[in-house]
Amino acid sequence: MEPTTTTFAQPTRPATLPGGVPVAGSRRRTFSFRAPTGELEMQIAEMPGRATPAAVTMLLSAALAEVGGVEATAERIERLSVADRQYLLRALLIELGQDELWVSANCAGCGTPFDARVVVSQLPMEEAVEYPETSVETSHGRLRVRVPDGADQKAIAALDYDKAIAALAARLVLGVETGSGLEPWAGGELSAADIDAIDQRMYEVFPAVNTRVQARCPDCGRMGTLDVAPLRLLRRTASSVLPDVDTLARHYHWPEAEILRLPRQRRMRYVGFVDRSRGFAG
Ligand SMILES: [Zn+2]
Repeated sequence: MEPTTTTFAQPTRPATLPGGVPVAGSRRRTFSFRAPTGELEMQIAEMPGRATPAAVTMLLSAALAEVGGVEATAERIERLSVADRQYLLRALLIELGQDELWVSANCAGCGTPFDARVVVSQLPMEEAVEYPETSVETSHGRLRVRVPDGADQKAIAALDYDKAIAALAARLVLGVETGSGLEPWAGGELSAADIDAIDQRMYEVFPAVNTRVQARCPDCGRMGTLDVAPLRLLRRTASSVLPDVDTLARHYHWPEAEILRLPRQRRMRYVGFVDRSRGFAG
């Protein structure tokens, strides 16, 4: 089976948040990570398949040094937009040395399994047109709505899909726009058409990080979907931490906790020494 390479129209861009932290009318879009350690990778490896928004907040606040020019506390991470949080998980993948990786898929046409090469820094994302607020015409008047964040995700995490969408839309309403300014929204039921209108507007103007991309099956040429959800890829990357601990503990007799505290790069170098001393590699 031949490997395939995904190609995307967007060039590599500087690593800045798609949304950012709103401060006095501007957006602070910088971020930086601490040197990743085995402890961080262990935290990733032990996350459940469907990680909760709270778990993502914990992970990002452990991984990041700063976001928007200030310390990356759990509270601040929770207040980041959903797109920013997804983008940071993607950036963490690159930080862990995984900018280029292989993603497996099964062709929906001929059923053949294939691997596609993905360059994480070139994966598509939708830039913000408006941020962090927009307005939308509804049966309640012209509503001002804000971008959804990690706290919103947490609040609706336990609800069924339809209830979650309705609850999310209601949470995001900031008020009703009038000729003279913003008035409090009286609340009440948003109709399905209102929720659709809010959803559509958010899709049009707020940033988004795509977790699925198209790739061509090398056997039959049919275009199919690749799952590039960053958490799934992070879990796969972080799964190397346990075999590394095993190798180093056997060879150097260091305790697990000390091995996990090593920066990832240094741990990988030690593993390289052990492999060479065993004659596995050049
Ligand atoms: Zn195929």
